[in-house]
Amino acid sequence: MILFKNVTRDVYSEKELYVLGTNAVLKAYGKNSYDAVNEAEKVLYDIDKNMSIFRSESEVSKVNKNSGISPQRVSSETFYVIKEAVRYSRITEGAFDPTIGPLVKLWGIGTSHECIPLRSDIDKALHLVNYNDIVLNETEKTVFLKRKGQSIDLGAIAKGYAADMVCKIFRKNKVSSALIDLGGNIYALGKKSDRSLWTIGIQNPFSKRGTFAGTIKVKNKSLVTSGNYERYFVQSGVRYQHIIDPRTGFPSTSSIVSATIVSDTSIEGDGLSTGIYILGLDKSIRIINSLKNVDAVLIDKNAKVYVSSGLKNNFALRKN
Ligand code: ADP
Ligand code: MG
Repeated sequence: MILFKNVTRDVYSEKELYVLGTNAVLKAYGKNSYDAVNEAEKVLYDIDKNMSIFRSESEVSKVNKNSGISPQRVSSETFYVIKEAVRYSRITEGAFDPTIGPLVKLWGIGTSHECIPLRSDIDKALHLVNYNDIVLNETEKTVFLKRKGQSIDLGAIAKGYAADMVCKIFRKNKVSSALIDLGGNIYALGKKSDRSLWTIGIQNPFSKRGTFAGTIKVKNKSLVTSGNYERYFVQSGVRYQHIIDPRTGFPSTSSIVSATIVSDTSIEGDGLSTGIYILGLDKSIRIINSLKNVDAVLIDKNAKVYVSSGLKNNFALRKN
């Protein structure tokens, strides 16, 4: 018997981890997928270490502790994410606002102390929310919050950045096919190993988890959804969910209950989905239409599904 030749084989690596406050699943195909997944894991933990508000030693916590006192030097990664966050604040007319920290803390949605705060406390916290008070120094890589008590919360954008970083590592390792899922922040890299497009489901906000409102077929795209069905509490029959409207200080009550952004980068999808969710249909549609290579699926309170023109022939409604 002689060795003739190796047959090709699918090399596949998968890892589940808890990072950035969510369950993440990385699935990669290709020769270097094992190394790629391990490298990505390390990078995800680093992003968490730098950007989490739940870690008192993180760079973001350092900026927050020094609000009204002094500018703080941060890594170029954290600087970039904060700078992008400010950009999405402008695009969404302040609906997305990374200085939402005091209000998020006050409501505590998803924590053991979630409650409806006192009106006076909401007003106080609301007064501290303003992305224009973030002072960025590009050369020094410093971040400063102008007023004492202000705080940055990157919870609505960090996962998007993280998904892009995983994608970058995968590409560097020549992983040609992968699915990156950071708690619903999805990036579909390349095509599936059988060369067909990835089919990604969009949760039906009115049904139990895993029931889709529809599906989209993609390659090299990010899909990010902000919805009212994952983190919330109910009091006196009213649902209070975790996305807070910086104009009112209360959880958003816009007509949109689920906003999915389909885009080339996930930071874009994450930044936009939160703001779009708050802004309601008319403004959101205007913003989506004004942006290049950005598509959306919006579901409103009445279970109506709106799809941007780029997805018209792609979105397949599921009738369950
Ligand atoms: P998720 O993180 O659940 O996928 P989002 O990306 O929409 O959903 O982010 C929600 C998180 O962002 C909240 O838990 C909170 O930390 C923060 N947040 C809440 N309201 C806002 C807002 N108006 N602008 C920016 N961040 C917000
Ligand atoms: Mg978001």
